[in-house]
Amino acid sequence: MKNETVYMKEAGTMFIREIEVPEPKDDEVLVEIKYCGICGSDVHYYENGRIGDYIVEGDFTLGHEVAGEIVKLGSNVKDLKVGDRVALEPGIPCGKCECCKEGKYNLCPDVVFFATPPVQGALQNYVVHPADMCFKLPDHVGMEEGALVEPLCVGLHACRQGDVKLGDNVVILGAGCIGLATLLSAKAMGASNVVVVDLFEKRLEFAKEMGANYVINAGREDVFDECRKIFGGRGADIVIETAGSPKTIYQTPMLAKQGGTVVLVGIAVNNDLTYNFGQVMSKELTIKSVFRYRNLYPVAIAAIADGSIDVKKMITHRFPLHEAKKAFDTVIADAENVVKAVIEL
Ligand SMILES: [Zn+2]
Ligand SMILES: [Zn+2]
Repeated sequence: MKNETVYMKEAGTMFIREIEVPEPKDDEVLVEIKYCGICGSDVHYYENGRIGDYIVEGDFTLGHEVAGEIVKLGSNVKDLKVGDRVALEPGIPCGKCECCKEGKYNLCPDVVFFATPPVQGALQNYVVHPADMCFKLPDHVGMEEGALVEPLCVGLHACRQGDVKLGDNVVILGAGCIGLATLLSAKAMGASNVVVVDLFEKRLEFAKEMGANYVINAGREDVFDECRKIFGGRGADIVIETAGSPKTIYQTPMLAKQGGTVVLVGIAVNNDLTYNFGQVMSKELTIKSVFRYRNLYPVAIAAIADGSIDVKKMITHRFPLHEAKKAFDTVIADAENVVKAVIEL
């Protein structure tokens, strides 16, 4: 078995090296990876060599949106078998701390997450992973869709945090992969009117194809005027920010209705931001935030399996493993047209 592994060294460099196939421990399985999605965070590490305090040192493998086939079982693994097709939840929590015990394991301070330095990623032929973090895909759900469970979970978590329900009016700021995953989730959870805002026309076209009821091009139109028209003078029940720009984060309380909810998903480059707390207080808004996701892999897989969410539409680009560098360069150079690029192993 060949284990070809994609490494970056300094920002913008990438090479492939063959390494040993790892051996699964008692509670682990060995997975032959079939697809790996390229995430915004992967691109950040590739472009800048760091995200905040997480700094790439030495040879580093990216990738955390993966699905594959089980080829070997650890001695304690009973619930999975060789040949099972699985999506891998990339974060391994400690299981012992307060956050883990409360079920909020995404907030575990000791979580070990693929492709978050110093933890290596999964853009390679074989990885070992805890069996209880591998989720079986039904026969009719493809491996590509399995790789997209990860970003879908972010959208589902955003909608759960905002308590999106039947009949709601929702504004989503940003139509990148996470914005579109949030759109798919909001529609599946029953939202009646979902408005998607972005600067790129092409992305707004994707949003329309994926079920947005209205789209607004913030470069040409006034977001507040348009939303007022759409919602008959009211604000939105839920405003979900996925772009991570100081400008769109600032807009969130003004777009929400009295008593509405704002969900902050996009990560801004700077932590200190200007925000209108007068709006928050006079409208009695609820502000929620999102850090990754929790307890949602089974939900996402069920929603894909029963057809309530079609993640395949998000895949715009496919590359073989040997073109990993080209894949990353394309995502950077053609941000407007790439929703989700996947690498096929
Ligand atoms: Zn991701
Ligand atoms: Zn923990």
